[in-house]
Amino acid sequence: MDLLTWASEAKARKRARGTLDSSGLPAAEPEQMFEALGAARDLHAALEDAFGELDLVVTDNRRRMLSAKRREGRLEVRAHHMFVTRGAPSEWLVGFVRGEAGARERVRAFVATHRGVIDHVREQSSLDTAGTHHELMEHLERARDLLMVGELEDVVIRWGRRGKGTKSIRLGSYDFEQQMVRVHPALDQAWVPGYFVGFVVYHELVHAVVGVEVVGGRREVHTKAFRDLERLHPRYEDALEWERENLGRVLRASR
Ligand SMILES: [Zn+2]
Repeated sequence: MDLLTWASEAKARKRARGTLDSSGLPAAEPEQMFEALGAARDLHAALEDAFGELDLVVTDNRRRMLSAKRREGRLEVRAHHMFVTRGAPSEWLVGFVRGEAGARERVRAFVATHRGVIDHVREQSSLDTAGTHHELMEHLERARDLLMVGELEDVVIRWGRRGKGTKSIRLGSYDFEQQMVRVHPALDQAWVPGYFVGFVVYHELVHAVVGVEVVGGRREVHTKAFRDLERLHPRYEDALEWERENLGRVLRASR
């Protein structure tokens, strides 16, 4: 460590007034740990420079990479350890908390680059989720937020393979065994609205929540509980209407 780094760290340490919770930092050799702690303190100081006294929590959360919220009037920033250990410029995080234009995209790109350090139960590859027109990960995250069920963190998503169906196709499916949502690639079109793809993903995630019921000896998935939950999607009516009007076109695109 050179003198300049040491001086900036010492300064940072003096300035930070809020609490720094660094328990989410990954286990490492003492030297790396020391470095990571220093980086966390620098980030804390940079955030306090911008927003005044606040608390910084370094997390190991698999899903929420970065968030900021006021709690009893006090700002709490939660940041995945990758921002600290992989050296994200602190002004990006400041910009994100401020809601600056482009900050969200910058942070998203950083996360995508360093996705490997996220402690995934199963690696969710962006190769499986990025379409030409629709990014499934965004829809999965939105659907999780809508359903607010913690266990859904382990659900993964990917575009399905092109099937041979000619008269009907499944726009989406949920595999209980693999906890995997698959979305038909025919939906990856510029003319398919995002809310419709989002609704298909939401529908499949509702399956994950509701599970399978056995009614009168028959396995039922679209139960009343299912339908009630499905109806809570904010674009429910729009999605059904779009499907009625465009299913033919989707079918033709699937061939
Ligand atoms: Zn279904």
